[in-house]
Amino acid sequence: MAKIQMKTPLVEMDGDEMTRILWQMIKDELLLPYIDLKTEYYDLGLEHRNETNDQVTIDSAEATKKYGVAVKCATITPNAARMTEYNLKEMWKSPNGTIRAALDGTVFRAPIQVKGIEPCVKNWEKPITLARHAYGDVYKNTEIKVPGAGKAELVFTGEDGSEIRKTIQEFTGPGIIQGIHNVDKSIESFARACFSFALDTKQDLWFATKDTISKIYDHNFKDIFQDIFDKEYKEKFDAAGIEYFYTLIDDAVARVMKAKGGFIWACKNYDGDVMSDMVSSACGSLAMMTSVLVSPDGVYEYEAAHGTVQRHYYKHLSGEETSTNSVATIFAWSGALRKRGELDSLPELCSFADKLEKATLGTIESGKMTKDLTQITSLKEVTALNSEQFIKAIRENLESMM
Ligand code: NAP
Ligand code: MG
Repeated sequence: MAKIQMKTPLVEMDGDEMTRILWQMIKDELLLPYIDLKTEYYDLGLEHRNETNDQVTIDSAEATKKYGVAVKCATITPNAARMTEYNLKEMWKSPNGTIRAALDGTVFRAPIQVKGIEPCVKNWEKPITLARHAYGDVYKNTEIKVPGAGKAELVFTGEDGSEIRKTIQEFTGPGIIQGIHNVDKSIESFARACFSFALDTKQDLWFATKDTISKIYDHNFKDIFQDIFDKEYKEKFDAAGIEYFYTLIDDAVARVMKAKGGFIWACKNYDGDVMSDMVSSACGSLAMMTSVLVSPDGVYEYEAAHGTVQRHYYKHLSGEETSTNSVATIFAWSGALRKRGELDSLPELCSFADKLEKATLGTIESGKMTKDLTQITSLKEVTALNSEQFIKAIRENLESMM
C-alpha cells in the first residue's frame, strides 16, 4: 500500500527519558509504516539543549510559528539534581515556558475518555477541556509579611508622574499583604485563543471568575472577553451553533458537576491550575490527558500532559521491563497530523489520525493496556502489557483497519 503523502512538515520536538524511548517506538511502529512522514526535527533532549545553550528550544518555537503545527515530546525542566546528573552549563528554563512565551499561547487540556476507564463523575459522558490563562495573578506576585501595626497602601505611578493611591488596610497588628497584576494584552490573547479553539473544535465555551467580589480585577477579565466576543466572534459562534457564556466561578463549579461534558472551561491562572488537576484526577490518569498550546493567531503545539516518567526510565536503563502508557503521546501525534491534514487539505492524513486514535482506544477496550490502567479499569478481563507490547498491540489493530 502506498504511504500517505504530506505537504508541509510538522515541527518535531524530541524530548527526554522514558518519553523519548516511547517517541521512537511510536514513530517506528505506528507512523513510518503508513506515512511518508515529513518533519523538521529539533532535539530538545536536555543534552542537546545544553550543547546549544538552549538555542534549539528558541529555534523550534520559531519554526512552529513559521509552519503552524508542532508535536512535542515531554522534556526535563532542570533543577539542582539535573545540574549534576547532566553536567549542565546553566539551569536552563522550562522549554514549555519558553515555547509558551514565544507563541503567546494558551494551553488546552482534555482527558482521553475510553470505555473501561470511567470518570468518577458518572454524568461526564464527554471530555471537559480546560483552558488555563498562563500569565500573571498569584504566579507573578509580590508579598510582604507585615511585622506589626501600620498602614498598607496600593500605589500606581504613571509615566507622567501622576499617582493613584488606595488604602489596603490599617493594620493594628502583624499580618500579610500581596500585590498581583495582569495586563490587558495577555487577557486579550487568552480570550482570542479560547474563542478560536471553541470554533475549531465546535464546543461551547464557559468562562468564570469571581467578579462579584473582585469588582475591578476579575471584572476586567469578564469585560475583555465579552467585548472581543461581541466584536469578533459572535456571528461565527452563531453560524457554528455554539455558545459562549460567562458565569460566576461558584456557579460554574456547580454546573460542571452536573454537566455531560463536551465543552471548554476557561479559567484564570490559579483556577485553571487547580481545576485541571481536579478534572484529570477525576478521569483516572495523567497518562490519559492531551494538551495543546494554541496561539491567538492559530498556531498549534501538541503534547502529552505528563512528564518524562523518570522512574520508569531508570528501570528501563537497568534492563527492567517497563509498562509506560503511550496514549497521550500517540494522541499528540494524531492531533498534530490531523491539524496538518486540515490545513493542507489532506483528508487521507486526517483519516489516518482518526484510525490511529480508534486503534489505540480499541486496544484498551479489548482489555489490553498498560499497568497504570489495569489498576483503575472497570473491565473484568484485562492483560497488563509492557511499553513495547502495548504499542505492538495498537499496531495490530491499526493494521486491520488500513
Ligand atoms: P511525570 O513524568 O508525569 O511522572 C509522575 C508519575 O506519574 C510517574 O512516576 C508515574 O507513576 C506516573 N506517570 C506519568 N506518566 C505516565 C505514563 N505515561 N505511564 C505510566 N505512568 C505515568 O512527572 P515527574 O516524575 O514529576 O517529572 C519527571 C520529569 O518530567 C521532570 O524532569 C519534569 O521536569 C518533567 N516534566 C515535563 C513536562 C513536559 O514536558 N510537559 C511536564 C511535567 C514534568 P509511577 O512511577 O507510580 O508509575
Ligand atoms: Mg497543578
